[in-house]
Amino acid sequence: MKCKRCGETAAVKLPSHHAGFCPECFERFFKKQVETAIRRHGMILPGEKVLVAVSGGKDSLALLRVLSDLGHDVAGLHVHLGIPDSSDPVCERTEAYCRENGFALHVLRMADVGLAIPEVKDAVRRPICSVCGKIKRHYFNRFAYENGYAALATGHNLDDEVARLFANVLRWDAAYLGGQGPMLPAEGRFVRKIKPLYRLTEFETAAYCFFKGIDHWKAACPYSGGASFTGHKRLFADLEDRSPGQKTAFYEAFLAKGKSHFAGVGEENGPVLTPCERCGYPSSSEVCGVCRIRALVERAGE
Ligand code: SF4
Ligand code: ZN
Repeated sequence: MKCKRCGETAAVKLPSHHAGFCPECFERFFKKQVETAIRRHGMILPGEKVLVAVSGGKDSLALLRVLSDLGHDVAGLHVHLGIPDSSDPVCERTEAYCRENGFALHVLRMADVGLAIPEVKDAVRRPICSVCGKIKRHYFNRFAYENGYAALATGHNLDDEVARLFANVLRWDAAYLGGQGPMLPAEGRFVRKIKPLYRLTEFETAAYCFFKGIDHWKAACPYSGGASFTGHKRLFADLEDRSPGQKTAFYEAFLAKGKSHFAGVGEENGPVLTPCERCGYPSSSEVCGVCRIRALVERAGE
């Protein structure tokens, strides 16, 4: 197969785009998809600082690289979770990659704020991933807000978005459907949330990392019970095989025709947010979920 753009031998085949690309033209394609996402949804305005949530995996490092290559003012934030045999090597690898490539990287250690995940796991009686996710979202947003970043970028790709959308449709979860999308505007102490890779698949992001020599962390978190939405992703992989372009069609049609029907449902029916009396960040109760988790950890350690 030949590269659609330059006619050289193609190194990657993208049936959904009826194209194959050589490594150089694939990079152009990848950047173009990100540029289109940013422009179409007004994700980043000229001169704005963007914080990238960097886990150390392929999506977040690819995102840091591509936003920087597109000329955006980016820095990464890595949240060190304090998980034995995992958090240290992930953090070291991420720091090394950022140092070698000239990216600013901030590291926030959950042990320093009384929320090391193993201790949280022992203190709470809920599945650890939902609690860990809540803590990470809180600190990513908080760091961005307190350090003057206009937007927080996460590495969610098309497969993640399609699987989440499908899960929300299966439950007809109107509040989640109203809030789902590649850009969530800023509100109060919540900075703008953006997903600039939403037009690119997991395969395309992996190919980008391969061609760019991005040395990302591949091992799963020891607490993970498997990747999220694995079954839904498999379903869509099958659909895509039979009919290339289905993932994009499903997601883009939702944005164009479906989402507006659910607009505002979450706000109308959801709880009123007021500042948490301990940390000051928006909360549906007097004390926010993260401050309540910290109190549980403190009590367990007494
Ligand atoms: Fe946190 Fe690990 Fe669960 Fe991810 S898999 S949410 S890092 S505990
Ligand atoms: Zn709080």
